[in-house]
Amino acid sequence: MARPILIIDPGHGGRDPGGGTNRYWKEKDLALKISLYQYNRYRDLGVPVAITRTTDKYLSPDERTRIVRDSGAKYCHSNHLNAGGGDGAEVIHSIYDGKAIAQKIADELRKAGQNIRRVFTRTLPGNSSLDYYFMIRETGNVVTNIIEYGFADSPGDDIQQLRNNHLKYAEAVVKAFCDYAGYTYRTPSGEEQDVNIPINPAPVPSNPGGGSNGSTGQYIHLPASENSWRVYPVDVAPVKGNEKGFLNPAKFGGLTYEILGQPQAHVYIIQTSDFGRVQIYGHPSTGAVINSSPGSSTTSPSTNTDEKTEKHLHLSASESSWRVYPIGVDPVKGNEVGFLNPKKFGGLTYEILGSTGAHVYIIETSDFGRVQIYAGPNTASTISDEDRRASNSDVKNTGDRYLHLPKSESSWRVYPLNTSPVKGNEKGFLNPKKFGGLSYKILGTTQAHVYIIQTGDFGKVQIYAHPSTGATISNKQ
Ligand SMILES: [Zn+2]
Repeated sequence: MARPILIIDPGHGGRDPGGGTNRYWKEKDLALKISLYQYNRYRDLGVPVAITRTTDKYLSPDERTRIVRDSGAKYCHSNHLNAGGGDGAEVIHSIYDGKAIAQKIADELRKAGQNIRRVFTRTLPGNSSLDYYFMIRETGNVVTNIIEYGFADSPGDDIQQLRNNHLKYAEAVVKAFCDYAGYTYRTPSGEEQDVNIPINPAPVPSNPGGGSNGSTGQYIHLPASENSWRVYPVDVAPVKGNEKGFLNPAKFGGLTYEILGQPQAHVYIIQTSDFGRVQIYGHPSTGAVINSSPGSSTTSPSTNTDEKTEKHLHLSASESSWRVYPIGVDPVKGNEVGFLNPKKFGGLTYEILGSTGAHVYIIETSDFGRVQIYAGPNTASTISDEDRRASNSDVKNTGDRYLHLPKSESSWRVYPLNTSPVKGNEKGFLNPKKFGGLSYKILGTTQAHVYIIQTGDFGKVQIYAHPSTGATISNKQ
């Protein structure tokens, strides 16, 4: 599993309710709700994410900042509600870094309807080289932004806005981060770009709070392959640790429930006999199928691991050590069953047999048998419909592709890894004209038409090469 690029810190917790509290909410609770929402959204979007707390737990400043420092993340959102009689959101950054992302977050909050009071830094009285806020001062290399979504004691419209729109503002920050850090953003109802089998595209009406007594006309089918499917109370975040109980589709040859509401993307409200009305997480990668048929899902596509998806996973030849995990454990560091070495074989290609989570695939390996592998968009992997093995009897040539830049171009932008490959972020320019055209081995892709190449002048960079640019791709150098 890639280490997190982002860690979310829900402010306060436990015996510390936070000052941004009023008769409608406690700061610690609303900050946690916003944070868990973002955590789930980032996971859906394939952004490696961590969080400092998922429950109403007290963390001392030392514990909190240590978790952030030790997370390996590059960025942190520290989520808070403000107090002091102002109105509007505030985003705080370090005197040393984080201004650009703070500004981006503020811009998206403004677009979502919240006014921005200020984007600012503050230093310790008497020491202008130290940040005032401990979350910013003590979090080491992690670029931390404190986000104050509004004032609990606002004389203006913040209280009403936060009661109604706190998840909208949470989403605005998700969009800001994805845009800033170069992850493809999709709205909560947006098209899936996962490898999974298409589900019925009919949208389920959004139903915040899940209070509907009506029917959405949609059903969720849980496959017979699963014997333990978490369900959650309707008023908590649907994350591990918050379960109300487990359903056992295997026992019943699969289970089907009418969808009564959808509080967030891929989370549905259903009525169960054992646990009453609950939330259930049914991302397509879980094997759940959503459609308008109340009947059994046996005729519906599913991601049952015994079926073939006809998709293939390609691991770039640039990587020499790619973790794989046994089926049935969390695919996280420490749980590895072994490592694949794409470099040794000039890249490796596997048929995708199923998926156990966002960007986690099941493949059959000769060394470790059937395993899970994480292949998110930030890794040097690609997914395709074609089987590159089919056209290559010699596995050593598998996956080698080359990018050719035409000699008509004298100035082709390249971008650092881990930034968005957009104007303004350039690391430098290549000059194909000077060399009668240039060719590079493709080491990976970061998004559609964006490739990772190794350059002599700028090291490993991203390059945008849509066919319309004149660039071509072939198997020949
Ligand atoms: Zn606070």
